[in-house]
Amino acid sequence: MTTREQMLLHPRDEILQTMQRIYRYRMTTTSGGNLSIREDNGNIWITPARIDKGSLRREDIVCVHPDGRVDGPHRPSSEFPFHQAIYAARPDVGGIVHAHSVALVAFSIAGGVPDTRLFHKARTVCGEPAFAPYALPGSDELAANIVGAFQQGPYCVVLENHGVVVADEGLQGAFERFETLEFTAKTIIKARMLGEVRYRADEQLAALKSAAGPLREFTPGAPSSTEKELRRQLCEFLRRGYRNRLMISTEGTFSARVSDDCFLITPNQLDRHTVGLDDMVLVRHGAREAGKTPSRAAVLHRAIYAQHPDIAAIVNAYTVNATAFSVTAAELDCHTIPESFLLLRDVQRIPCGLQFTNPEQVAQRVSRDRPAALLENDGVLVCGTSVLDAFDRLEVLESTAETLINAGFIGKPQPMPPHVIEELLARRT
Ligand SMILES: [Zn+2]
Repeated sequence: MTTREQMLLHPRDEILQTMQRIYRYRMTTTSGGNLSIREDNGNIWITPARIDKGSLRREDIVCVHPDGRVDGPHRPSSEFPFHQAIYAARPDVGGIVHAHSVALVAFSIAGGVPDTRLFHKARTVCGEPAFAPYALPGSDELAANIVGAFQQGPYCVVLENHGVVVADEGLQGAFERFETLEFTAKTIIKARMLGEVRYRADEQLAALKSAAGPLREFTPGAPSSTEKELRRQLCEFLRRGYRNRLMISTEGTFSARVSDDCFLITPNQLDRHTVGLDDMVLVRHGAREAGKTPSRAAVLHRAIYAQHPDIAAIVNAYTVNATAFSVTAAELDCHTIPESFLLLRDVQRIPCGLQFTNPEQVAQRVSRDRPAALLENDGVLVCGTSVLDAFDRLEVLESTAETLINAGFIGKPQPMPPHVIEELLARRT
């Protein structure tokens, strides 16, 4: 779905679809969390009190008018008071997500907020989260504590021993911010299991923003059937990657080679869950398809395709477990599992920001035989001989990372000895 289509959604549908997404991906419980939208006329649309989030219908969404009149078959959420108080205090806010997501509740009961200096995107999307002291859920005191935190200007507030409230000018933006913060929290928790977490100074994070990418435009002719097929495959695997939590709404890039120095790539800043065939951007001879902005990784992908004619698809992803390795010094050792070794070999580690300052050098470090890399504080990079091949290797990388983290709590992970590795290689050739 495009941003334009999002803007045309009725508040009932936008709230329903967002809640289904939050609940389906286990970012809240059936009894916890609520969503609201404020319209320009002052009406506030909000999820109802005590309705199973697994069977919510559009007609269950309640509208509260500025005079207090309520339209709908239910009472508004018991946490309506703080939604209303935030809208009163922050004229710039038009959508609010409140959720009890596991990783952010973990921070809330431990008395802290996730440090968003973990990733460039987390910093730019979420800013600096604030913390609101505990008060009884649904109480005026809780509303006062939350508003007190929002008055300082943040968009994300962690509620002590409770959950999180995230705001934006619309509900879609609030959701994306919430999902990015939850992902950041999850990654920090996993990374803490591996060792010391490396955060980056704001200046360093700013350097992680790529140059504008291809600036020239070109108007493509009629697409070939090869291009049409690749558009379909990329959209399908992006959606699958989102469903399987290999990507989040604000992060993740997939590209596929169409022909020499010509590839398709995901657009910049479009919800990964809803990218469609026409959203994918054609990049040819370093120029972008007219009227579209490719992902910021386009320059890096072009350098890899140029150096490696046998690579046909590349994915940048933010998978919690592998990304946890990228923010610590821990080694992601694939010499531990036959499948992982054969598909990934030695996972490369790319120093922070090299993919933007010297993409050619990153391209030299990966190849068909070294298809996976950890980009320090910027997720993972995986190459393949087809879209399916790259996706498969990405899944294996994430499973291996999760297995290694888990194994560390059972004992010391044992790499396979050299003769076992030789046997594997001999069998393969
Ligand atoms: Zn709550």
